[in-house]
Amino acid sequence: MSNIPSKLQERLALDFDFSTVILARKQGVEGATQKFLWRLRDGQFIESVLIPASASLYGETSDRFTLCVSTQVGCAYGCNFCASGLDGFKRNLEPAEIVDQVLSVKRMQQGDGGRVITNLVIMGMGEPLANYPNLMHALNFLNAKWGTNIGARKITISTSGLAPQIRKLAKEPQQYRLAISLHGATDGVREQIMPINKKYPLSQLINAVEEYQSLKNGMVTLEYILIADLNDSPDQALALAGIAKRLRAKVNLIPYNEVDEFKWKRPTQNAQDAFIQGLDKSGVLTTLRREKGHDIDAACGQLRLRNEKELDAQRS
Ligand code: SAH
Ligand code: SF4
Repeated sequence: MSNIPSKLQERLALDFDFSTVILARKQGVEGATQKFLWRLRDGQFIESVLIPASASLYGETSDRFTLCVSTQVGCAYGCNFCASGLDGFKRNLEPAEIVDQVLSVKRMQQGDGGRVITNLVIMGMGEPLANYPNLMHALNFLNAKWGTNIGARKITISTSGLAPQIRKLAKEPQQYRLAISLHGATDGVREQIMPINKKYPLSQLINAVEEYQSLKNGMVTLEYILIADLNDSPDQALALAGIAKRLRAKVNLIPYNEVDEFKWKRPTQNAQDAFIQGLDKSGVLTTLRREKGHDIDAACGQLRLRNEKELDAQRS
């Protein structure tokens, strides 16, 4: 606001901010997947990922953009494959910190020819349903006509499986899409990588999702990271098909993005193909997400982790 006296500018700057998130680092090039590392007012870091409909490294543009946003600093759920949970949970994001990830990217895009964010996935760092009131507050703004006007059907909330909160979400008037991070189709396998499965085993989770599905027909996706020799067997494909059919859900397979701290490996292309064929045979609608950001640490929490490691190295 250069049209007000500089003394007043200084005074206002002490009390007011235009954004609760400040860009600390950006990875990726225009036209391909881009990743944003944000610094919050208390010095913590979170990340968002912008994914064009057709990510290409050759500068193609796209008119459809999906933004993946974070809801917490760190994560308390400690899934045994995910970089976001490695340092434990720090705090919930405020509604403004969730909204500002979207507004800040929108502002950058406006400077870039005015393309817009058409879809949101709440799949960044943190467990969204563990920050329920702040998430709803933020989504009300992002969804509202007077806000950013992104349709509820274009907003997908991903959860590791908090059954009571899934039931609560089913009763919200908005038709948000729900993604369940399943990653194991039997309790024995799921428990090995997702501690939450002990609290809400598959039977309870499936019941809650059934309730969601009965109220919001066709709004559920099962996310399934393919990890070599853990969850990529024909038996798991069969069990996964059974769950998907029962829930009338589609399945999104994601080849595991390796994280140094964990021992897991991505299955070979042949093993991935065999798993997909197993699901196809059962008539389940399946997509394989190609990791558009493999080279830029796009899996949840990896950029923040690298940043923390670099800061530690500078301090020591
Ligand atoms: N807490 C929520 C949302 C954030 S995590 C949830 O668990 O659903 C969302 C997703 O990030 C995971 O389900 C998984 O699909 C993805 N993810 C995390 N680490 C990954 C990795 N190393 N490789 C591939 N995908 C990963
Ligand atoms: Fe948390 Fe989701 Fe990562 Fe599990 S997968 S540690 S719930 S962010």
